Amino acid sequence: MTEFELIFDFHKNADRQGPGSDTETLKALNMFDIKKSDNLNIADIGCGSGSQTIILARNTNGHITAVDIFPGFLENINIKAEELNLKDTITTVERSMDDLQFGESEFDLIWSEGAVYNMGFKNALKAWRPFLKKGGYLAVSEISWITDSRPEEIENYWMKAYEQIDTISGKIRTIEAKGYSPLAHFILPEYCWTDNYYRPMENRFESFLEKHGNSDSAKEMIRTEKEEIRLYKKYKNYYGYVFYLAQKI
Ligand code: SAH
Repeated sequence: MTEFELIFDFHKNADRQGPGSDTETLKALNMFDIKKSDNLNIADIGCGSGSQTIILARNTNGHITAVDIFPGFLENINIKAEELNLKDTITTVERSMDDLQFGESEFDLIWSEGAVYNMGFKNALKAWRPFLKKGGYLAVSEISWITDSRPEEIENYWMKAYEQIDTISGKIRTIEAKGYSPLAHFILPEYCWTDNYYRPMENRFESFLEKHGNSDSAKEMIRTEKEEIRLYKKYKNYYGYVFYLAQKI
């Protein structure tokens, strides 16, 4: 199994592949000036298992194009959509987020939860802007520093993992610089990390190691996740996932 396949295997049956919650998705959606009856064209980029895809589908009168690079996630979403009678509302697209082939001004709303780091916040905001209509909305959740300064251990850890991590004010400046008007932001509550992401992940550690015969690569993956969790517990007052809402100008 390649490293990629191993990662997918670890995450494929989880409800979420990053911190978040249905409540916070809905909170973000409700902050926009959108009526439930509006017929919107929505892209959900880096959709993973699609928790937020389903929320978007159920709470708008829109059509959702759910994009991910792992076809297995998309298969699961298609099954879920069928079960929930949302087959005509959700279309899945297997594609890399840095190579999207959408048309100009195709979408009223671009959504991306816990995924934009894969191509970097700055690059994504730039690359996706043409796909949005003028006045169209963007909702992105992104790891951010929530204080002005922080201990060296956590600074070094996240700078190495994701160089574009920045303060909220820095992210908002980026949003402006990339041609959007910042509308709002809010920090995801702690349970989005613990109850919804890390705890379900911890519950999978043992069976995952067993399944992969305690291979070195599986052990290394678990070690890496455990380290991330340890640091979160220690330094959660310094960083968080932040939802950024913006409008194309
Ligand atoms: N939005 C989901 C998943 C977040 S995890 C949630 O909040 O639960 C990040 C997702 O981005 C994963 O599903 C992963 O498969 C996907 N991803 C990683 N690299 C990608 C790329 N280059 N293009 C598109 N999707 C990618």
